[in-house]
Amino acid sequence: MASKHKKTAAFVKERLDFLERNDLYRRLRTVEVEGPAAVVDGKEVIHLCSNDYLGLSQNKQVIKKTIKALQEVSQCSSRLIAGNHPTIMELEGLLADHRKTESALVYPTGYSANLGAITAIAGKSSTIFSDELNHASIIDACRLSGATVKVFRHNDAGHLDELVRQTKGGSKIVITEGVFSMDGDMARLPEICSIAKENDAITIVDDAHGDFVFGPKFSGIPAKFRTDVDIHISSMSKGLGCFGGYVATTEHLRELLINTSRQFIYTSALPSHLCSAAIAAIPLAKVGDLQKKLYKNIAYFIDAMKKLGFVIGNSSSQIIPIMIGPERLAVEFSKELLRQGVFAQAVRYPTVRKGSARLRVSLTAMHTQKHLDAAIDVFGKAGRKTGII
Ligand code: PMP
Repeated sequence: MASKHKKTAAFVKERLDFLERNDLYRRLRTVEVEGPAAVVDGKEVIHLCSNDYLGLSQNKQVIKKTIKALQEVSQCSSRLIAGNHPTIMELEGLLADHRKTESALVYPTGYSANLGAITAIAGKSSTIFSDELNHASIIDACRLSGATVKVFRHNDAGHLDELVRQTKGGSKIVITEGVFSMDGDMARLPEICSIAKENDAITIVDDAHGDFVFGPKFSGIPAKFRTDVDIHISSMSKGLGCFGGYVATTEHLRELLINTSRQFIYTSALPSHLCSAAIAAIPLAKVGDLQKKLYKNIAYFIDAMKKLGFVIGNSSSQIIPIMIGPERLAVEFSKELLRQGVFAQAVRYPTVRKGSARLRVSLTAMHTQKHLDAAIDVFGKAGRKTGII
């Protein structure tokens, strides 16, 4: 028994050493968020990596309504057994209205919504066409579905067209993100959707980062580009500042998911008080004052980063990658920023390609001009100190 443990320990140690040697080791930090600021490992800093883009997770009205709704911690059951609380159905109605679809289905997280929807509609005889920068949950879903997966170059409609035309037989599914989670650029949906339509392919858009931020009534990237997609997938833990995931689509597809989606059937329902939180947050996310502030912050920060000489790719959203390249340098830069009072995480392989490490800055409506100016000053100082600019 003891020798077995020794062997396991050696194997684990080897893997951890490998990560350390390659600057890929990740360490957990404690983070307590206070609006646009945070206390990271005990140090107060400006928070520049929040997904709470509108600041709704700390909205007093949302919190009050969530507490009022809190009757039980969880339904302690899957939806098809005894977990289908009326609040979850009410939320689904609001989400369908929001995305202008026939229906919506809530999942416990955005991750499981991707897994659940993609594996339910794609099988061995399908071909999935997936953008090379799609999120890990889409990649995992593609693998789990057993479909043939053809990866098209990022946002390259010509490459997608070539791959789709080469594919004969079986169902075809095109999947992209709306706003790309690590690059902050938007999918070329008009071109992508027209290629899909011409070739009878189903379109799926994971709009986790565009939802409640862009588009008419902030209903996301497909609506922004006036494109008709078959399946919308999103997370409620970003623009909406809540928790959970959802799929918005047709009534028939919703029924298919309820009947066949393993990540829907074999897991506990999203607790009803979290549904109440989302119900309280949706009207606040529809007003537009928060997005107006956020857009102003985006324009200001992007301009400042460019003036300082940072490379930020093609971002046109609240997600602004500060491109670094080597993993070690990205970590060093992130540490220097933290020392000087700014929290922006380094993102490395396997989240992004090897050698394309970056800082993933994300802005919120809560940042004031003062926060941004202080952060920009620190970026300049830390950038010069580390030789990045
Ligand atoms: N899709 C994308 C594009 C994401 O960035 C994320 C979260 N980082 C998810 C899905 C998963 O969402 P959740 O956190 O709700 O599981």
